[in-house]
Amino acid sequence: MSKYDYLGERYQFDYSATELATQAIRMGHQRSPEMEHAEPMYMTSSYVFNSAAEAAACFAGDIPGNVYSRYTNPTVHLFESRIAALEGGERAVATASGMAAILSVCMSLLKAGDHVVCSRSVFGTTTTIFSKYLARFGVTTDFVPLTDLARWQEAIKPETKMLFLETPSNPLSEVADLSALSQLSKANDCLLVVDNCFCTPIIQQPLKLGADIVVHSATKFLDGQGRCVGGVVVGPDKLLEEIHIYMRAAGPSMSPFNAWVFLKGLETLSLRMNAHCDNALALAQWLNAQPEIEHVFYAGLESHPQHALAKQQQKKFGGVLAFRVKGGQEEAWRFIDATRVVSLTANLGDAKTTITHPATTTHCRLTAEDKAQAGISDNLIRVAVGLEDINDLITDMQRGIDAIK
Ligand SMILES: *Cc1c(COP(=O)(O)O)cnc(C)c1O
Repeated sequence: MSKYDYLGERYQFDYSATELATQAIRMGHQRSPEMEHAEPMYMTSSYVFNSAAEAAACFAGDIPGNVYSRYTNPTVHLFESRIAALEGGERAVATASGMAAILSVCMSLLKAGDHVVCSRSVFGTTTTIFSKYLARFGVTTDFVPLTDLARWQEAIKPETKMLFLETPSNPLSEVADLSALSQLSKANDCLLVVDNCFCTPIIQQPLKLGADIVVHSATKFLDGQGRCVGGVVVGPDKLLEEIHIYMRAAGPSMSPFNAWVFLKGLETLSLRMNAHCDNALALAQWLNAQPEIEHVFYAGLESHPQHALAKQQQKKFGGVLAFRVKGGQEEAWRFIDATRVVSLTANLGDAKTTITHPATTTHCRLTAEDKAQAGISDNLIRVAVGLEDINDLITDMQRGIDAIK
């Protein structure tokens, strides 16, 4: 008897775990007959059939099965089922990048004549998708302040189909009231789409607070070590079926290699997110006590205007903070250049702490007026806090402070 003839009871094991940390490690792995322990990486573009009739049935969708990796791939599917479980969604579709996830949502669920209301504090390229590309195809967008519910309400028109936001915002950590926005969205027959990249489901589960769809840049905390670019959309089966049909046709599919790396990332997601948040809170509190720092933006500080809301809708306060040094761009650059441990790069969600000057990097394309409106001042610095020892991070920030004393 070969091992393929006998498959024991642990071959297809149902990991009926209820806790996020366990789900992130074990959900969805259907073992192959090789009984592998780690998830296998299926590097294949196509799949074979037992007969011409089976191929025909599979192509027609009459029987389940893999046809081509632009449509489905077992490693990508495993990543999708695991992130769907973590977010509490029925289904997920993985994409080649976070931007591909956002574009897939828009292309599959919007049409010419539709209107979108979008937070003005979203990832810069997200703004470009709405204001430049979707506008060309007759989808219009109004941008509103993230935390001003009245402005969201005023911006909604009969043709509004989607509300789009990130919370907490980048880089100023403003927090949106997801339950209130979900009520507003439902009352107006819109879809509430939340980019949950900064929190991940370990810290915040927008679908449970009434969001219809969650999108991620998996490039950030889901990977957690700055290795791969990827994205994912999570939500109800009905909407995700539309997104999957678009993905099959347009082709922004996730590579199975990247899906495998993200699966490895998910195994430590709970540990990492808790450590990112603990380090960020400690660093925010330390910075807040330094006389050379004008202001610290972090929802974990009691002085933050949405501290109570953040406490209620998030388990912790996230791994990204920003602060204004006393002075202007010259002092901010001197602070950044004096650091020796943290990396001078705009990426975030990495084990390695990163430091950046938003006004001249991530937000450099904004006009002076838009920068002022968004609070991106010349003395603002963003730190995406990593997993190094907090004492070394504080020592490094002290170098920055010494440079502007
Ligand atoms: C990075 C990022 C994106 C875009 O993701 P890519 O993987 O770079 O395409 C979208 N939203 C947020 C909040 C991000 O930080």
